[in-house]
Formats: sequence, C-alpha cells, structure tokens
Amino acid sequence: MHAEIAGAGFAGLTAAVALRQRGWTVRLHEKGPELRAFGAGIYLWHNGLRVLDNLGVLEDVLDGTHTPPIYETWLHNKSVSRETFNGLPWRLMTRQHLHDALANKARAEGVEILVNSEVVAADPLGRITLASGEVREADLVVGADGVGSKVRDSIGFERDRWISTDGLIRLIVPRKKQELGHGEWDNVIDMWNFWPRVQRILYSPCSENDLYLGFMAPAVDPDGSRVPIKLDYWIEMFPFLEPVLIEAAKHQTARYDRYETTKLDVWSRGKVALVGDAAHAMCPAIAQGAGCAMINSLSLAMELEEIPDVEEALGSWEKRIRPITDRCQAISGEYAANRSLSKGNQFTPRATEAARYDPVKRRVMPW
Ligand SMILES: Cc1cc2nc3c(=O)[nH]c(=O)nc-3n(C[C@H](O)[C@H](O)[C@H](O)COP(=O)(O)OP(=O)(O)OC[C@H]3O[C@@H](n4cnc5c(N)ncnc54)[C@H](O)[C@@H]3O)c2cc1C
Repeated sequence: MHAEIAGAGFAGLTAAVALRQRGWTVRLHEKGPELRAFGAGIYLWHNGLRVLDNLGVLEDVLDGTHTPPIYETWLHNKSVSRETFNGLPWRLMTRQHLHDALANKARAEGVEILVNSEVVAADPLGRITLASGEVREADLVVGADGVGSKVRDSIGFERDRWISTDGLIRLIVPRKKQELGHGEWDNVIDMWNFWPRVQRILYSPCSENDLYLGFMAPAVDPDGSRVPIKLDYWIEMFPFLEPVLIEAAKHQTARYDRYETTKLDVWSRGKVALVGDAAHAMCPAIAQGAGCAMINSLSLAMELEEIPDVEEALGSWEKRIRPITDRCQAISGEYAANRSLSKGNQFTPRATEAARYDPVKRRVMPW
C-alpha cells in the first residue's frame, strides 16, 4: 500500500512514520525548501508523549526539554493558582527540537521526503497534483498541509471558520535566570493583565537555556500586536521581566498570529484523509492542536492496519477519534473567547480530556 502525504508538520510527519512502520511506502511532500518548524515553543501532554513513545522517538525528544514543576497563573502580577494537573505528564520544548526528532525518525524509517514539493490539488480517487503539474496516485492521500490546506480546499469539504479577537507573538529567548533575580523561574507563569489594557505574557521555560515567551494582545491593539515587540510597552506592564524582554525585542522576524478555528463536515472523502490543522485547527488556549494532530495521525495508521479497505477504515477512524477532538476544539474556542485561563485552575477534567487520551490503549486516562 502506498501513501502520498501533503505537509511535513507534526501531523504529516507522525502519519508518515506510523504508516511506514506498518509496511506502507510513504512519500511526504513539503512545500518549503527545507524541513523546519514554524513557531517557538510547544506544550506536549500525555497524548502527544504516548504517540512519540509508540513511534520510538520519546527518548530523543525528552532529552533537552523541560517539565516545569508548576503551572502558575498570575492576574495583575499576583498569583491566583498553582496547578500540577494531578500528576498528568506534560513537557515543554522548542518546536524545532520536536520537529527534528520526528523528521530524523521519518528518514530513518525510509519515508521518501520531497522538499519544494507543493501539493496543489487532490481527488477522492487517490490522486494528487503537484505545483509542477505532475500527478501521482496512491492508495491513500493524507492532507496534513495545515490550516490553509489545498488538499482540503481542492476537494471542497464543507467548513466553518472563525478567527479570534486575540493573537500571540511567539519567541524563543535565552532564559537569563540569574538576571531575572529571585523567583520560581522554572515554572510556567501565565501572566494576565486586564487593566489598563489587555496584555498577557505566557512565560514557558523549554529547556536549560531556552525560554518560550508568548505575547498576547487583542488584534485591535496596534502596540500589543506590533512586531518587533514594542519594548517599553511590554516593560511597563511586566517590569520584572526586563532582561528577557530586551532579548525578545531583538527578534526582527517574529509574527503576530490570530487564533483560527476550522470545523469540517467530514474528515475524509474517498481515499483522502485530512489530519491536523487541515481538519481541525483550534485556538491554542489549552495547547492541544499538535497533540490532537499527532493522536489522530497515529490512530489513522492503526485503523488502516486493522481494516484493510481504505475508505471503510477512514470512516471508522473518524467515528472513533473525532468526538474527543471536537470537544477539545469547542472548549479551546470557549476559553479563548472568554479569556478563561486568567481565572486560574482551568485545567479541569473536561479541559484535559484530549490531553489524557491514550491513542494506544484507546481510552482517556483517569484524572
Ligand atoms: C499561538 C499558538 C500556540 C500553539 N501552542 C500549541 C501547544 O503548545 N501545543 C499544541 O499541541 N499545539 C499548539 N498549537 C497548535 C499547533 O501549532 C498546531 O495544531 C500544529 O502545529 C498543527 O500541525 P499540522 O502538521 O497540522 O500543521 P502545520 O504545522 O501548519 O504544518 C503544515 C506543513 O505543511 C506544509 N504545507 C502547507 N501547504 C502545503 C502544500 N500545499 N503542499 C505541501 N506542503 C504544504 C507547511 O509548510 C508545513 O510544513 C499552537 C498554535 C498556535 C497558533
């Protein structure tokens, strides 16, 4: 059996490795000139870590990453909650670190990876068309080409799409622990301010040396959404972070991203399956987009192993896995719209359902 996959992000790489490990030949098309991750840091939870374990890359990924002792929430610079998620495994890392581990595994397993290879269309019979005009055939086409998916749009899935009012600038800077002075700087600290204006910094240590900073502001705020960051504007609200804010202001090429949600009528048509943001982009409030992308990609390969008929397997896969993603997407949207995380203690059993899902055991781990 042969698969053609569009997009070498976390979804496409996971699907490629999982299918290859089950005996498929896999060709992975990446439109960019090289394999690289966009963005800064990433939170992985039990679900994503279980996928990495199943693919055989968990040890490589854990090396050089960090589990903060506590997820702290501050409102107007005062602590409102300190969460440890009832012992639920979680991990922070740079995106490039995770991407490199998955890409290395794909190469080692014999996935054929083509860069500068843009998929411009697909059809349910299992054909893809490349930007070069070349057409390729497969038993399975996977559209893992992100929120702007051409695979999805060329086939014409019904979809709803929302863009949120807030967005985030994401950067990796040196940790500068000594310069920050006294404080629990190994924790995640989610710092919210609503007065005199809405501004949030998500402080997330990723490794011994790397700090992931997320700068959140409403899109209508020209200063808060400005890139490079407006140093005095952020120091005024978060003066104790000055050493790392100075580093952040040096980044000239950062991007302000608004949160996007996409909801489709179905995730597959004929021999074409959509995974990751192509199928279910969600607000990042509870940091689950990549986790869901990875469990859905692994689950797809597992389903195809059990049900030899591709179209039947795709239907069964969506039925099994989609409800958890749908609920996760809904709560992510609700939290983003209400800025709920500012209240603290929001990682409830309901909010952590997807994070607790074990794709191998096919059940949600208890809270
Ligand atoms: C601010 C923010 C913070 C987030 N934080 C987290 C977090 O902490 N934890 C978490 O789990 N999730 C998080 N997410 C969500 C997560 O980033 C995404 O859900 C995840 O990256 C989706 O992976 P993907 O592989 O589906 O898509 P992408 O990462 O978008 O990858 C798509 C790939 O396909 C390539 N491509 C695109 N079009 C084509 C084409 N036509 N042909 C070939 N290749 C193509 C692209 O170049 C890219 O390499 C966050 C999202 C945002 C916006």
